[in-house]
Amino acid sequence: MKTQDIQAIQLLLASPKKIAIIPHRNPDGDAMGSTLALYHFLLKLNHQAIVIVPNEFPDFLAWLPGSKTVKVFEKDKENCTKILNEADLIFTLDFNAFHRTGNEMEVVLAEQKATFIMIDHHQKPDDYSTYMYSDTSIGSTCEMIYNFISFLDKKELIDTTIGTCIYTGILTDSGSFKFPGTTGNTHRIVAELIDLGVQNTQIPNLLFDNSSYSRLQLLGRALQNMKILAEHNTAYTTLTQDELDTFHYVKGDTEGIVNYGLSIKGIIFTAIFIENKDEKIIKISFRSQGDFDANQFARDHFNGGGHRNAAGGKSELSMEDTIQKFENIVTQLTYTQHEL
Ligand code: 5GP
Ligand code: MN
Repeated sequence: MKTQDIQAIQLLLASPKKIAIIPHRNPDGDAMGSTLALYHFLLKLNHQAIVIVPNEFPDFLAWLPGSKTVKVFEKDKENCTKILNEADLIFTLDFNAFHRTGNEMEVVLAEQKATFIMIDHHQKPDDYSTYMYSDTSIGSTCEMIYNFISFLDKKELIDTTIGTCIYTGILTDSGSFKFPGTTGNTHRIVAELIDLGVQNTQIPNLLFDNSSYSRLQLLGRALQNMKILAEHNTAYTTLTQDELDTFHYVKGDTEGIVNYGLSIKGIIFTAIFIENKDEKIIKISFRSQGDFDANQFARDHFNGGGHRNAAGGKSELSMEDTIQKFENIVTQLTYTQHEL
């Protein structure tokens, strides 16, 4: 981050402010961890801070400290708009384009006169923020929040509460420390957090070992639905709305299922297509290994984006037509693109 920007932010934070903190729609562990870490940090600096999520966050993150104070835009548009209108500062974390907050919230955000500060690790940031800390080489926004607090020279304020939130996002966005963005720095930060008392065995347990029986059955169905395009080193699976209903789907249940495709020998590109009848879309997650650019694929063909090895997008076609389109594109890709 530019020294000038750090100094300007230090000045802004030197007196109490009204601050709104926003993650992307369908917030994940990094989105919730980073916004709540920043929330606790700003409270310690005597600001009036609040996290506003575009829509509901999944249950498996509900144990995060401060999650009960979070406002949900979709459930209380009037009040959330009022908070945004009154904010002096708006932090946008773990996303870099207003449309990632959804059709209605993006309009409200675009109207705001407050100073925007973006902290994010996705590619191609939009130009809406006065101060921007954007770095695609860093594995998680939570790691950037740790850096941000360090830049402000306030590292001593990181306690187990803030540390727990930061640890959660680092853990989830790094695929438990195995994705390519994981560096020595990541581990050094995590080591510091553990020394502070952050519960590094309890947190993964709370995140990953809290499934319902029906969630595991849903996973079983997704694995059974999996198709392999062996010549193209690709695997994909689907879940229809009917299947989600059969297994009593609740938000968060499909998290991580997409990764199973990559555990098959020889597979370097995988996708999951999930029908959402309410929103009339097929939500898609892509994962890849090595050089195959899932972000570019999502941008080019499915109105999405993300990172090289983890991206998402959507389709307004039927499930059948979406799959047909996906297969057509994948089978037309040249073999060299798929070579490891
Ligand atoms: P997931 O598959 O876990 O939902 O998302 C993987 C990555 O892709 C995340 O970094 C997420 O922010 C990004 N992503 C997911 N869906 C979309 C989308 O529709 N548009 C864009 N631009 N990025 C997405
Ligand atoms: Mn992230």
